[in-house]
Amino acid sequence: MSQIPYESAAYEASSVEGCYWTATCAAPDCPPLEGEAQAEAVVVGAGYTGLSAALHLARAGMDVAVLDRHGPGWGASGRNGGFACIGGSKLDRGQMVRAYGAEARAEWVRAEREAIGTVERLAGELGIGIDRHSDGEAMLAHSARAMADIRADAGPAGAEYGVRAEVLEPESLAERGLSAAGMHGGLRLPVGFGLNPRKYVTGLARGCLAAGVRIHGNSAVARIVREGGAYLIQTPSGRLRARRLVLATNGYASDDLPDWMRARFLPVQSSVLVTRPITAEERQAQGWTSDLMAYDSRHLLHYFRMLPEGRFLFGMRGGIRWTPAAHRKIRAQMRADFEAMFPAWTSVETPFFWSGLANLTRRLVPHVGPVGDWPDSVVAFGYHGNGVAMASWSGLQAAKLLLGEAHGLPGFVMAAPKRFELGRARRLALAGAYVWYGLLDRR
Ligand SMILES: Cc1cc2nc3c(=O)[nH]c(=O)nc-3n(C[C@H](O)[C@H](O)[C@H](O)COP(=O)(O)OP(=O)(O)OC[C@H]3O[C@@H](n4cnc5c(N)ncnc54)[C@H](O)[C@@H]3O)c2cc1C
Repeated sequence: MSQIPYESAAYEASSVEGCYWTATCAAPDCPPLEGEAQAEAVVVGAGYTGLSAALHLARAGMDVAVLDRHGPGWGASGRNGGFACIGGSKLDRGQMVRAYGAEARAEWVRAEREAIGTVERLAGELGIGIDRHSDGEAMLAHSARAMADIRADAGPAGAEYGVRAEVLEPESLAERGLSAAGMHGGLRLPVGFGLNPRKYVTGLARGCLAAGVRIHGNSAVARIVREGGAYLIQTPSGRLRARRLVLATNGYASDDLPDWMRARFLPVQSSVLVTRPITAEERQAQGWTSDLMAYDSRHLLHYFRMLPEGRFLFGMRGGIRWTPAAHRKIRAQMRADFEAMFPAWTSVETPFFWSGLANLTRRLVPHVGPVGDWPDSVVAFGYHGNGVAMASWSGLQAAKLLLGEAHGLPGFVMAAPKRFELGRARRLALAGAYVWYGLLDRR
């Protein structure tokens, strides 16, 4: 395999084993690319980014081929927490305004809102049953200090998103069915919703196929070269020539596909537990009866929601290595955190556990722009663990860029991402960052 930042097991078909969503819907049949082929546009990566781009290009009348190492939704798009929410950057409001100015911040907030609207629109247009629930999301304060910040920020946050942000006083958590141990209150922002991520990505793939897109699974792209004014794409069993290129590999990208990508991204693991169905009595006993999706205010946050089918999903950052031992360790840590936050559920089993790769950039903002100086090319990545909505929107913007249409990309999203230090060993820096943020979270 080409130059990948993690152990090769992270990129194998089996890395999605244990994922609860896999059994909830069947993937369409996508045969590998065989022999010589042509298309007007080629998209590498069949997650939300690639499929959203492909759909828009096909609707504009273009002949599009999508190539994926495994198949639609095999990457993060088929195995995430299903929060269709605001986010995509790790910069908070103050940091973004200081770095890029108030106008750029306003453009970003517009993009976040449009991103959620994109998911809603695509699911509606394509008739995808996404198991939608949750009117917005709640952030629960893990400390008195975090609650003080929430009180101070509720007004500006609501004003920025054009909604009423609701402060959840500590004593109201129980009556709202949002009781988790150690929480000091919270904030509900009525923006976003929960969905089944695999149903959504599979629906996008079926929508692409219906629009005439060719999707090839088991077609890992080994090389992309420019030749005779076109892109020549090499897979194990085929070769495809196309004038336009969309690179949509996000956390599963390689440092040499093409060389311009080297160290411009940092994949990070996120991991998820899903319980067996929780009975009504068990929900009452814990005091968690709400369908609101939620996360806590830690830097190393936990995200959780009661699924419509009555199972509870609980996620957090994953390990630094992709090995069985590292996964055993993170699974035990997650189980301990789950029991600490939901003590009435210590006897509720969590039969499903899996991990996947999300992606960061050095400036902590997503990137959508050309692949270096390659003409008619776009790459989109780096949603910082919040890509259900932002990747769907970025794929659409990528298509607009290629088509020369008006787009809504803030300038800082289009600026070429800086490289991380440490080259291919860059993920090792995460160890120090996790210790540091863990210490901050004790305050
Ligand atoms: C465990 C987990 C939980 C998450 N929870 C949430 C959440 O609740 N809400 C939220 O908004 N975001 C969440 N995210 C992030 C979100 O899932 C991602 O940002 C989003 O799915 C990115 O979509 P994508 O299409 O860009 O990339 P991906 O879905 O990762 O797709 C990339 C694709 O590229 C393919 N590929 C890579 N290299 C090649 C190659 N050489 N040749 C061919 N194909 C290739 C891969 O096979 C893969 O299918 C989570 C992520 C993880 C891992």
